[in-house]
Amino acid sequence: MTTSETLARPEPARTEHFDVLVVGAGISGVGAAYHLTHQRPGTSFVVLEALDSFGGTWWTHRYPGIRSDSDLYTFGYRFKPWTGTPIATAEEILKYMGEVIDENDLGRHIRYGHRIDSAAWSSDDNSWTIEATRTDTGETRRFTANFLWMCQGYYRHSEGYTPEWPGMDKYQGQVVHPQSWPQDLDYAGKKVVVIGSGATAATLIPAIANECGHVTMLQRSPTYFIPGRNANDLADTLRELQVDETWIHEIVRRKILLDQAKFTRRSFEEPEAVKRELLGMVRAYLGNDYDIETHFTPHYRPWRQRIAFVPDGDIFQGIRAGKASVVTDEIESFTECGILLKSGEELQADIVITATGFNMNVLGDINFAIDGKPLAFSDTVTYRGMMFTGVPNLLWVFGYFRASWTLRADLLADFVCRLLAHMEKRGAKRVEVALRPEDRDMELLPWIDPENFNPGYLMRAMDLLPKRGAKPEWQHSQDYWREKDELPAIDLDGPEFVYS
Ligand SMILES: Cc1cc2nc3c(=O)[nH]c(=O)nc-3n(C[C@H](O)[C@H](O)[C@H](O)COP(=O)(O)OP(=O)(O)OC[C@H]3O[C@@H](n4cnc5c(N)ncnc54)[C@H](O)[C@@H]3O)c2cc1C
Repeated sequence: MTTSETLARPEPARTEHFDVLVVGAGISGVGAAYHLTHQRPGTSFVVLEALDSFGGTWWTHRYPGIRSDSDLYTFGYRFKPWTGTPIATAEEILKYMGEVIDENDLGRHIRYGHRIDSAAWSSDDNSWTIEATRTDTGETRRFTANFLWMCQGYYRHSEGYTPEWPGMDKYQGQVVHPQSWPQDLDYAGKKVVVIGSGATAATLIPAIANECGHVTMLQRSPTYFIPGRNANDLADTLRELQVDETWIHEIVRRKILLDQAKFTRRSFEEPEAVKRELLGMVRAYLGNDYDIETHFTPHYRPWRQRIAFVPDGDIFQGIRAGKASVVTDEIESFTECGILLKSGEELQADIVITATGFNMNVLGDINFAIDGKPLAFSDTVTYRGMMFTGVPNLLWVFGYFRASWTLRADLLADFVCRLLAHMEKRGAKRVEVALRPEDRDMELLPWIDPENFNPGYLMRAMDLLPKRGAKPEWQHSQDYWREKDELPAIDLDGPEFVYS
């Protein structure tokens, strides 16, 4: 939206004020609401959500088979036991979140159908002015808030990322992005090509394989997967012993996190051994005569991109049964009837599904301004991937890649509540992070080190994201196991926090 469009809008009838404004009612925003009511009962707050319901990712994605790729003991909140199978469907996750909202009476704080367009900080008032559009009536609503808790996730919910390939305009079939799945899409008996081999492709393919005529996973390069049983033996044993669900949740979380820590460490220390183990699991499903080398042996070391857990190896079962196949090649162009590959082979397709990822939405596609000046987020430096130099009274929840997102949402919620209490104690109206004198010469780097983690959506948006410093406090460590101890121990009177 341009400034003139913003100016041309009719003045909202009234302005509502809250101590805290939470952006988004996905798993992070609903968690923020829970923690505020429990840790800061006197704090007034509102959650504004552009969509018509809660759930974020789990509300938006409706393609067949949609499910989590990490376990719900750790993707679930630390405060509400997960009692289902470790890998859950979107429907199960929405039910769980709905229970959190109902059991804690959070619904009265959430306003759906409110898309935030702008957020302007005023140092005179020490507050944010937020303008939102009601998606049903088009009305503008204005709010003021002392603190912005950004739970808008990391990608644009309105549309996924589809690259432009030559000849797409000539293609006679249907092109579908999983993020906007037509509910009436008829794929029965059809030849389907799924472009991509990430978690989405791995979920979608087994879900449609039986009904399709044939489904082909077309990938430029292979991805790592972890096949395994969708069950947790420890949880099952504890349930047999009639241990309380609250205890089971905590014990199983700890065990999973311990195992993940070991696995993550090993993938850095002995990547070749981990690689062999992962490929061995795939081979166990596909057999020795399958060309694992071409189709399932990635060119990068394990964990440089998310590794999707494949419950019961379902995608491999589909391949083995001949219902699905994998082609590893590059797209030359679309043709009338399908896709021409660089190798010269042509894949016939009635439907092409582009499981090609997301468009990053930096700060919720909201126009930010600080004291009248537009905020270029990329000019800021991040403090631990949650606060940003020059941006007062704001925190962004950006979870982990190698561990469940919600682990960090819970940790950051504790941090915000502690920070708000600290400001109250000091009588401060404003907090901002600033580089200390000893940080002035610190090297500034892109948001994430591509050697460490390099999914496409992040690489495409790197120039829009804040900078990371060369010291641990000035970067998102992506390390739950460090942060679970470090974040609660942050000295809020340290020189990097500037209050007024
Ligand atoms: C298909 C899929 C599967 C995934 N599986 C896992 C998994 O198994 N484990 C894992 O750890 N991670 C997973 N992820 C990553 C996942 O997105 C996060 O873990 C988590 O759901 C993010 O929650 P969130 O609440 O922070 O953001 P989101 O779920 O993205 O929700 C953000 C909400 O903010 C709203 N919003 C954004 N901008 C505005 C605005 N301007 N105004 C008002 N509202 C706004 C959006 O409408 C949305 O409802 C998955 C992602 C996808 C796409």
